[in-house]
Amino acid sequence: MSEFDLLRLDGVTRRFAGHAALADLNLDIRRHEFIALLGPSGCGKSTALNCLAGLLPLSGGSIWLDERRLDTLPPERRGFGMVFQNYALFPHLSVRRNIAFGLQMRRLPREEIRRRTDEAIRLVRLDEHAAKLPGQLSGGQQQRVAIARAVVVSPSLVLMDEPLSNLDAKLRLEMRTEIRRLHQRLGLTTVYVTHDQEEALSLADRLVVLRDGRVQQIGTPEELHTRPANPHVADFMGFRNLLRARARAEHVAGDQVRIRIEDQTFSGTAMSPVNPGDDIIAAARPEDLTPAEDGLRCVVEVVEYQGREMAVEARTGGGLLLHLRTTARLAPEDPIGLTFKNLLIYKAT
Ligand code: ATP
Repeated sequence: MSEFDLLRLDGVTRRFAGHAALADLNLDIRRHEFIALLGPSGCGKSTALNCLAGLLPLSGGSIWLDERRLDTLPPERRGFGMVFQNYALFPHLSVRRNIAFGLQMRRLPREEIRRRTDEAIRLVRLDEHAAKLPGQLSGGQQQRVAIARAVVVSPSLVLMDEPLSNLDAKLRLEMRTEIRRLHQRLGLTTVYVTHDQEEALSLADRLVVLRDGRVQQIGTPEELHTRPANPHVADFMGFRNLLRARARAEHVAGDQVRIRIEDQTFSGTAMSPVNPGDDIIAAARPEDLTPAEDGLRCVVEVVEYQGREMAVEARTGGGLLLHLRTTARLAPEDPIGLTFKNLLIYKAT
């Protein structure tokens, strides 16, 4: 493996017909880190990955592996492994030969190819399927072949573009654990593209949240989960309730802010400086709304059964739609009072 300490993306920019699909991405990736690029469709995730892989030339900026400039090298000289959403296996080659392919291209001795291919097959638990063609495997097994093929060459960096999105929900969970296990066991450095925040939070050491080609926040899962930098990130991190309100004059010391929503006042935590009278956006997760007798008066509209809890939509007298998760047994048209356990406050821009 070509060892390195730091992979640096310095102002990486990619434009298509003048429009920046990726603008000024600055990111330091340390060896052994698992980085997730996260954001909605069209935010520039795949563009970033393809720039790293060398499949797309940059319109600006540079990429460095320690002191070595990478963005001027063709893909095959970067020493990266790639795993795509559609597996991209050779359909006429057996599992074994698909996995051995990269080693053969490197013209390694036959004994070494056999040994490393065997290891990789065992690693992804495909021992019993090594002689089969990809078409004879399930989706999850095919994705394991693709992963084995990417890691067998001991790449300095593994790039994965939505590798689990073609799998059903149960398999996705299993493969997620498998990917994390391989990452740790092989001491890989991984950059993983997904639009699934849960997947990103569970896999990555650090997440990069993108929107319209621009970084919104870089942080650990916990940082993003508890302190999203702006309402867009909050929205993406599951704060489904984004309410416009105004900061009240009696706004308290420190980061505590009082706000009024319809006929009630609530307090929340300011994520950036907020002054009395400012228009703000208050963000709350469905699980942080709780029924309370003297809370915001609402009427239940929709109740969805989700096992132990219910996902409920309720509307305030003023017409705001609120999302909550609760164990309370509610039915459409029930009147209910709601309060917030954890409210994040952002200045509206
Ligand atoms: P998805 O999750 O849907 O794959 P993404 O976040 O990976 O989305 P990109 O594929 O990186 O998004 O695309 C970012 C923007 O760049 C989009 O607006 C897209 O239309 C545009 N774009 C990407 N590739 C090209 C191209 N080859 N030519 C022109 N525009 C492109």
